[in-house]
Amino acid sequence: MIKFSKTKTFMLDLFFPKFCLGCQKEGTYLCDDCRSFLDISEFNYCLCDKNSSHFLPDPKLGKCSRCQDKKLSGLYFALPYKDSALTKKLIYQFKYPPYLKDLAETLASILIEHFIKTGKNTNEIWENSVLVPVPLTKKKQKERGYNQSEELAKELSKILKIPVISNVLIKTKHTKPQMESKKEEREKNLQGAFKLKCGVSDTPHFSGKKVFLIDDVYTTGSTMQECAKVLKLAGAKSVWGIAIAREE
Ligand SMILES: [Zn+2]
Ligand SMILES: [Zn+2]
Repeated sequence: MIKFSKTKTFMLDLFFPKFCLGCQKEGTYLCDDCRSFLDISEFNYCLCDKNSSHFLPDPKLGKCSRCQDKKLSGLYFALPYKDSALTKKLIYQFKYPPYLKDLAETLASILIEHFIKTGKNTNEIWENSVLVPVPLTKKKQKERGYNQSEELAKELSKILKIPVISNVLIKTKHTKPQMESKKEEREKNLQGAFKLKCGVSDTPHFSGKKVFLIDDVYTTGSTMQECAKVLKLAGAKSVWGIAIAREE
C-alpha cells in the first residue's frame, strides 16, 4: 500500500511538478523561504476583530462582551488576507483555476502552526468535537469538482484526529460571492441558505458536540453565523469558526 502511494506521488510529481506560488521554485507549493514571509498570527481575535490581548482570552469565551449574543463562539484564522499578495494567491489558486486541490495540505499546515503559536494544541480544545466544512451548493461543487473547505477539513482531521462530517449540513440556495455584495444584502440572501440534509432527529451527529466550521476565508462572518444557527438547532453545544485567512 505504502509503496503504491509513494509511486503514485512520484508519478504525479513527475508529470505535474509543483512550483512555489511565491518564487516559482520547483518541488513545493510554498517553499520555506516564502512561508517565512507569511505573517502567521500569534494571537486570537474576536469575531469583531478585537485582538485577544485586549480582552480575556478565556477558551470557553472566545469573544468580547459585545459579541456574546453571536451564534458563533469564536474564530480561529491564521493569516490576514488584505496585506499579502501571497496569501491571496494561495487561496485563489486553491479554489479557482488552476484548481490546486492538493494545496489543502499546505494550508492546513499553516493553520496548525497558528494553533501551536496560540497554545491551541491541547486536548481540551479538541475533545468531543467534529469538523464541518461550510458546504457549497450541489451545482457549485460540481463546477469546481470539489469543496475546498472539505479538502481543508480532511487534512486538518488527519492531524487533529477528529472526524469530519460532510454532506449533512447542506447549502440549498445559491448566494453571490461574499466580496461582491453589500453586508445587509448578503445577510438577507444567506437566510435559509443552509439546511440539514434530513430532519434534526435523523442527524444525531452534532448533538452535544463542539463543532468547528471550516471555511477558506472569513469575510463578515454572515455565512458562518448562518451555519452556526442551523448546527445549534441540531444540538451542537458550541460552534467555532476556522478559516485560513480573514478578509476584514
Ligand atoms: Zn518560494
Ligand atoms: Zn467582539
